[in-house]
Amino acid sequence: MKVEFFKHNLTQVDIDSVVEVLHNPILTTGQWTADFEDKFSKYMGCKYTVGVTSCTAALHLSLLAYGIGRGDEVITTPMTFIATANSILMAGAKPVFVDVEAETGNIDVNLIENAITGRTKAIIPVHLYGQMVDMRKLRAIADKYHLFLIEDVAHAPEAERDGVRPGQLSEAACFSFYPTKALTSGEGGAICTNSEIIANKLKILRSHGMSADANERYSKRYKHWDMEVLGWKYNMDNIQAALLINQIDRLEENWQRREDIAFKYESAFWGKIGFPQNLLNSYGSKRRVSKHGRHLFTIWVENRDEVLGKLQDAEIGVAVNYRAIHLLSYYRKRYGYKEGKFPVAERIGDQTISLPLYPKLTDGEVEYVIKTVKACVK
Ligand SMILES: *Cc1c(COP(=O)(O)O)cnc(C)c1O
Repeated sequence: MKVEFFKHNLTQVDIDSVVEVLHNPILTTGQWTADFEDKFSKYMGCKYTVGVTSCTAALHLSLLAYGIGRGDEVITTPMTFIATANSILMAGAKPVFVDVEAETGNIDVNLIENAITGRTKAIIPVHLYGQMVDMRKLRAIADKYHLFLIEDVAHAPEAERDGVRPGQLSEAACFSFYPTKALTSGEGGAICTNSEIIANKLKILRSHGMSADANERYSKRYKHWDMEVLGWKYNMDNIQAALLINQIDRLEENWQRREDIAFKYESAFWGKIGFPQNLLNSYGSKRRVSKHGRHLFTIWVENRDEVLGKLQDAEIGVAVNYRAIHLLSYYRKRYGYKEGKFPVAERIGDQTISLPLYPKLTDGEVEYVIKTVKACVK
């Protein structure tokens, strides 16, 4: 049996939607983008969504919109995809890492205050693998030190913790529509915010700093536009938006299937193989106010590279999410990081393996993965 690491979920409805755009004159940012933004805002329960070309762009622009740049420090986790930390560098600021919780791999909120200096301007929490960071605690710290909270929600659009959803207690929440994420447009991303001022700034910053977007420039009577600030070229186009818009309707059923698969993995590995704890597991209680986004299922094994090799020999697709960022060559060279600086993130980075987790995975494939993992780890 061969089990792919990931298969996307696009259907004929999504394809038809793209074809419809292709029959229209405006392929760049336009009506489909605006429609997607409205629908995504409703799904997330936030006031504004600004569509961009990636989560990296979303993070970068959010930092710029809040005036973060040279001389500033931004606190984040070393256990994430490099995009999170790189976006801070792109804005001209310095990423300051804080070690993670041993149970979940999420940033350890209790260690954050020690990392705050007079230069700290913001915190970027990442809801790793779909499990939300405690946003209430984080909001209290941010308020005490007057910091901005910008969430990296690439793994967790469906998540909730103690009744709080991504974007509700932060200044901005950033999403990825990369192929392996819950919604995909090939490449794509978005920012959710409840601030009209920030939403407007983001719209200007995603299109070179121009005062009118292409749709306005071409679909209405010509009007001179101006450029007051330097922006980037990060605008989501109608093709991406048309591909995304109907996928929102299927987010919950896709999540439910991943939840069921994750439960099978957890039951099978419990007490035998290590994996991140789901602290949000409140099933069974009638008031289900917490929900793990179930983006990735990872196991922790001491002989990681050996097990990784064996799983690939058995034709099971695997990935490593993630090796700790501070030990990558660029960060070592630029900031002088060495082993031992963030021991929990390093331990996870040395032991982690991501297993297949997507709605199209069949029960037979799940059984094969479980059986093979057990045999390889033993
Ligand atoms: C995928 C991902 C990103 C980057 O998303 P892009 O859309 O590829 O820029 C950022 N952070 C995390 C945690 C991710 O998994």
